[in-house]
Amino acid sequence: MAKIIRPVRVEKSRLPAAPKKSAKPAASALPKRVAKKPAGPKPWTAAEVHEAFSRFRDANPEPKGELEHLNPYTLLVAVVLSAQATDAGVNRATRPLFAVADTPAKMLALGEEKLRDYIKTIGLYRNKAKNVIALSEKLIAEFGGEVPRTRAEIETLPGAGRKTANVVLNMAFGEHTMAVDTHVFRVGNRTGLAPGDTPLAVELGLEKIIPAEFMLHAHHWLILHGRYTCLARKPRCEACVISDLCRWPEKTV
Ligand code: SF4
Repeated sequence: MAKIIRPVRVEKSRLPAAPKKSAKPAASALPKRVAKKPAGPKPWTAAEVHEAFSRFRDANPEPKGELEHLNPYTLLVAVVLSAQATDAGVNRATRPLFAVADTPAKMLALGEEKLRDYIKTIGLYRNKAKNVIALSEKLIAEFGGEVPRTRAEIETLPGAGRKTANVVLNMAFGEHTMAVDTHVFRVGNRTGLAPGDTPLAVELGLEKIIPAEFMLHAHHWLILHGRYTCLARKPRCEACVISDLCRWPEKTV
């Protein structure tokens, strides 16, 4: 008699899983697309930075700021007035002003209205007059009438930001700060010395690479370089003392 062979039933769960149909290949199987960041300029070596600042020093051993002032207080006021204004324009206004008001107390005695008259040739003078009066009041109320010596304290004064604090700390108190204005920002980026999207990034980049022996004057050397040589529209590369070190692809020498 023939043997009856019954089909064996296998439970579904024991069967090997059929490969799933997928419309898209797994992400891991795709070739990775790496977004290419444009390569920045080759960073300066320590020797190159030293060489650049040695040349700035040789060309101008004692650079001076161009904002006229008589003491730390008048320097602070001049810097506050200089926002979006030229140093020459500020000097024209502050010469007669500081002759009558070179301390916070004298500035308060002068009063906001008369102060406005002195500075009305400077842009945003109404707001700046308000700030000068308010910062003078604060100096008297909280700092014994003196300009404080820390960045954090200076930054609490009306109209004074980080750049103002850095200028005052450097010029009045000899601190190794780096104030980044429009010129320093441009030079830091263009030369490749300290590329950065913000003034703070450029400030920190410059502080990191500039040797301490140059830091007292570095801010002035860079401002003067930007103001008179590395001009915004038409840099004078032919007259530039660091042209061979500069990383700007569009330099003309
Ligand atoms: S070479 Fe030209 S672009 Fe470079 S720092 Fe000098 S002036 Fe500026």
